[in-house]
Amino acid sequence: MSIKVCKFGGTSMADGNIMKRVAQIVTADEKRRYVVVSAPGKRFGGDIKVTDLLYQCYKQAQAGELSAFDETFSKIRNRFLYIEKEIDKNLGLDGLLNDIKEKILAGESEDYCASRGEYLAANIMASVLDIPFVDATEFIRFNQDGLLDESTYELGASLLKKYPRAVIPGFYGLDANGKIKTFSRGGGDISGAIVANAVAAELYENWTDVSGFFACDPRIVQNPKCISSLSYQELRELSYMGANVLHSEAIFPVRVAGIPIRICNTFRPEDAGTFIVPKVTGVDLDTPVTGIAGKKDFTVISIEKSMMNAEIGFTMRLLSVLDRYGVSFEHLPSGIDTISLVIDNEYLQNGLLEKLVQEIKETVHPDIVHIHEDIALVATVGHGMKQNVGTSARLFKALSEAGINVQMIDQGSSELNIIVGVDGKDCENCINAIYHEFF
Ligand code: ASP
Repeated sequence: MSIKVCKFGGTSMADGNIMKRVAQIVTADEKRRYVVVSAPGKRFGGDIKVTDLLYQCYKQAQAGELSAFDETFSKIRNRFLYIEKEIDKNLGLDGLLNDIKEKILAGESEDYCASRGEYLAANIMASVLDIPFVDATEFIRFNQDGLLDESTYELGASLLKKYPRAVIPGFYGLDANGKIKTFSRGGGDISGAIVANAVAAELYENWTDVSGFFACDPRIVQNPKCISSLSYQELRELSYMGANVLHSEAIFPVRVAGIPIRICNTFRPEDAGTFIVPKVTGVDLDTPVTGIAGKKDFTVISIEKSMMNAEIGFTMRLLSVLDRYGVSFEHLPSGIDTISLVIDNEYLQNGLLEKLVQEIKETVHPDIVHIHEDIALVATVGHGMKQNVGTSARLFKALSEAGINVQMIDQGSSELNIIVGVDGKDCENCINAIYHEFF
């Protein structure tokens, strides 16, 4: 029988009653045989996710702040014990929590600590659904470089064959030394995609608290259009640029196997949601744009040097500076005598920007180096752009009418996106202007 893998995010695990609702969703379709879960998320505005509390506990334990640790750990304990009461089962969670507390105080790693929210949530869901719990440590493996090890898929396939149905905790696996290691935040989506690949699912359902993928962030544009289907590539571009419905790396495990993803809403399961498919067909010529996403906090280092174009190896020497400092760049727009590095501010903390600029000066001897520290990147994404003459003209006209000064432009060679760099303060206006031009 064909299989659907369902991943439920933090808001779908927020309390016992929602978990019961999740159980109804799962049992409503007998193809939904594997369930991957996140740790309990926020129940209301201002609430704290269990994962955030766990990170806090780790820091407090490390700093020897024991009474603060106890207080934070009690919040976690109360949350799980309340869920146990709501689902009306005795799972012995108190004992499990004691064991976890002891291990954190004995010096277990940050990743171990952070993973326990998913571990407990999966145990609870397995009991609610009355199907086996299978730990992610049994098959999700990371290699020496901290990347997903390819053996994961085979291990997962042979293990999960033995379980016609199972609940699996998201977000973590084992590193090359057999220790617990987590993905980056929101990585439960990656775990779900791995399981979908391992069991050769026909569909990977990602259940969240929104009815699909919107053309842009609803906090920025009022009532944006919900996208009915988009390609893996479009999703990757949009989620990388800040559309945070799905982790940007969750695509890879399903893409290699051609498994479509459906984004669905636990609180409105009847909504169609968004399908993410290998290829979108029938591009709508009136809407060449599929979605718009923006990300703030980038720095642009612009370098000018006369006759740069004739200096063989200039770019290589420039990039060797980044290599030496372990800094990654996002974009590298260039002209005849100019080149700019667009870098995420995350890489430039603690005086690194100044050091980098100094070394660039010593290495490539530019005429002028100009730094702009508060840049937002806004990506306009859509396969339809390729077929449509005039898309960029419409985009830039909309920006100029909105009075937005464009600092940088980059268009990928696949013509899937146009990226503009604007002042951080213009980010929201920029997204609004582009949205209203195309939708
Ligand atoms: N619980 C983890 C987080 O909050 C992972 C996830 O939810 O996917 O980032």
